[in-house]
Amino acid sequence: MRTSFLPYHRPSIGRHEIDAVVETLESGWLTTGPRTKQFEVDFAQAVGARHAIAVNSCTAALHLALDAVGVSSGDEVIVPTMTFAATAEVVTYFGATPVLVDCQRDTWNIDPAGIERAMTPRTKAIIPVHYAGQPCDMAEIMAIGRRAGVTVIEDAAHALPASYRGEPVGRIGDITCFSFYATKTLSTGEGGMITTEDDRATERMRMMALHGISKDAWKRYTAEGSWYYEILHPGFKYNLTDVAAALGVEQLKRQDEFLAARTAIARLYSEGLAGVPGLRCPVARTDRGHAWHLYVVEVDEAEFGLGRNDFIETLRAANIGTSVHFIPLHLHPYYRNRFGYAGSDFPGAFDAYQRIVSLPIYPAMSDEDVDDVIDAVQAVSASARARSTVAVPATSIVAAS
Ligand SMILES: *Cc1c(COP(=O)(O)O)cnc(C)c1O
Repeated sequence: MRTSFLPYHRPSIGRHEIDAVVETLESGWLTTGPRTKQFEVDFAQAVGARHAIAVNSCTAALHLALDAVGVSSGDEVIVPTMTFAATAEVVTYFGATPVLVDCQRDTWNIDPAGIERAMTPRTKAIIPVHYAGQPCDMAEIMAIGRRAGVTVIEDAAHALPASYRGEPVGRIGDITCFSFYATKTLSTGEGGMITTEDDRATERMRMMALHGISKDAWKRYTAEGSWYYEILHPGFKYNLTDVAAALGVEQLKRQDEFLAARTAIARLYSEGLAGVPGLRCPVARTDRGHAWHLYVVEVDEAEFGLGRNDFIETLRAANIGTSVHFIPLHLHPYYRNRFGYAGSDFPGAFDAYQRIVSLPIYPAMSDEDVDDVIDAVQAVSASARARSTVAVPATSIVAAS
């Protein structure tokens, strides 16, 4: 057994990131400026998008995207129930209604048939979430959006870099929102990015991200700027700092290296855990590039011999950190009370929630770390089955065989 605790996540911050941050601190320019511009240019190029707008979180990105779409009170926005708080809460900022949709049983991504059923004349946008880093069924989702004239905003917090039928995530939907939160595949501590091909939406989002002030307000303290500015709308304060952007520029250069490491870990897990009874490894569709932000396994209590919660506790006792992504939105008090949702309203997500565990997956993991996780899971499985075999009366074993 491991003698030291293997955390569920650890960011990969190298010498180049540290040097870039120190250089920024010494440059005298801390907030949005040349490094943020550089990060936007590099990011747009990396995903092949026309525009990239750096912001201070993915939550801010989603908020700005819905504002650019013109969502207002009484509108509806379709979101998966299998997601983090951010995806739906931004909808309520406008007095609009987040309409939840169930997930597919194998990928845990939003079910296009469920989107179809949830569409009404009040639907203003659809926000698919690329769960764990695997792109959703974008052909189907874009077709539903196009047919109804409804904007598709991708929550790509997990999906950098990822692709769907050869297209990088970041240039598929109308607007795409990325997260650089501490646990994500690229981290600036806190941060986010919006990509889009839409010039008008870009102008609106840039303006609203910085107090609704007319263009490039940050330049007003530079030689090319002037003291004069105009407030065109009551905006928000969502700009990224140059300290964070310096991290982002360096982290972005390592995306291929990071992805290769994550993909290798996922492969080792899928090989090493393939035969464990009652444990299902993640399903990766062959027509898309998976970012492997998360590696989520599903345990069937009856066959595995142990429930999900006990599984997590046993792994913790074996010095392996894990997490659960996610507690579906419809099970949380706010959504239950405000919209009257019951657990069984979304059986796919409800059932998944009882069974899922996210194993550690990040580039800083060594091969020994990965082996430790596989060994620990196999040991848990073996002892759980030994216990449940003892508990079953001999007659029923005969009957079952
Ligand atoms: C992390 C996350 C977000 C929020 O990202 P922030 O940058 O922390 O605002 C949004 N959606 C999903 C699915 C996430 O996992």
